[in-house]
Amino acid sequence: MSETVAFLGLGHMGGPMAVNLVKAGYQVLGFDVVPAAVEAAAAQGVPVVGSATEAAAQASIVLTMFPSGKHLLDAYRGGLLAAAQPGSLFLDCSTINVDEAREAAQLAVDAGHRAADAPVSGGVVGAEAGTLTFMVGALAEEFEAIAPLLEVMGKRAVHCGGNGAGQAAKICNNMLLGVTMIAASEAFVLGEKLGLEHQALYDVISTASGQCWAVTTNCPVPGPVPGSPANRDYQPGFAGALMSKDLKLAVSALQSAGITAELGSLASQIYDRFVDEGGAGRDFSGIITDIRQKSAE
Ligand code: NAD
Repeated sequence: MSETVAFLGLGHMGGPMAVNLVKAGYQVLGFDVVPAAVEAAAAQGVPVVGSATEAAAQASIVLTMFPSGKHLLDAYRGGLLAAAQPGSLFLDCSTINVDEAREAAQLAVDAGHRAADAPVSGGVVGAEAGTLTFMVGALAEEFEAIAPLLEVMGKRAVHCGGNGAGQAAKICNNMLLGVTMIAASEAFVLGEKLGLEHQALYDVISTASGQCWAVTTNCPVPGPVPGSPANRDYQPGFAGALMSKDLKLAVSALQSAGITAELGSLASQIYDRFVDEGGAGRDFSGIITDIRQKSAE
């Protein structure tokens, strides 16, 4: 594999994604601002360097996996774009605001580079197993260029449109997911009050018109879906803090686009409260315990 990848942001997701690239034969130069993250990646066989700019200067692809759009824009403006070789491909896999993604891509293009956004779904388990789904916003040519790389880290890459389209698809999906998880949880709590067994209600919903991923894969009650986080006291899975973050991004996009989406906005408030009340590190399906508690008050 001739391509050299600067992999910046070796956190929960980036660390295992970088490991998978190394295992597939890519030349990777990893860096993170947190020394412990650098050490953990190095211990797993990822070659590391002393700075982001040092990595970017030697790479043809600069892959970022950061906490937020602010981190990305600060890095781009703080010397990363200037350090890279002309025509480098800046591939951002973080989940960030659509407007920030478009701004970042424009900055990269203005600096003589190419750009793609490719946020992921699948969580840490998917990052480790190389089974992530990538939602890609890029020109067709850039999508083709990054497809082999995405194939190593994931099982599916959907080309959603031009720059920012990957982020747009991700927040539309996660807004729907947040709303459906709350709705599914409300249905199970109502079922409990009406004397229904969880299994009976699951058997109906999973084969009837209420069928959805929140029930059939991430079922908020223990029992019917043995692998769902409800069976391990809501250990994530997909943490409440991340759902709250993604819904904030969705609300920001709703406002920016002038869309009235009452359920999406309400879901954002409900998950903010979930996080405030201790749900940040719990799976987002733990919202059902809040609904149950509030019903008992
Ligand atoms: P994380 O906080 O574990 O990792 C982010 C890393 O980026 C940190 O180690 C941080 O030190 C590093 N970083 C920040 N600025 C940097 C810079 N300028 N140079 C180098 N490194 C820098 O977060 P994570 O859980 O790995 O998530 C990363 C992104 O993926 C987020 O945008 C998140 O929303 C998204 N995401 C996460 C999950 C998940 O389950 N964790 C699932 C889907 C998407």
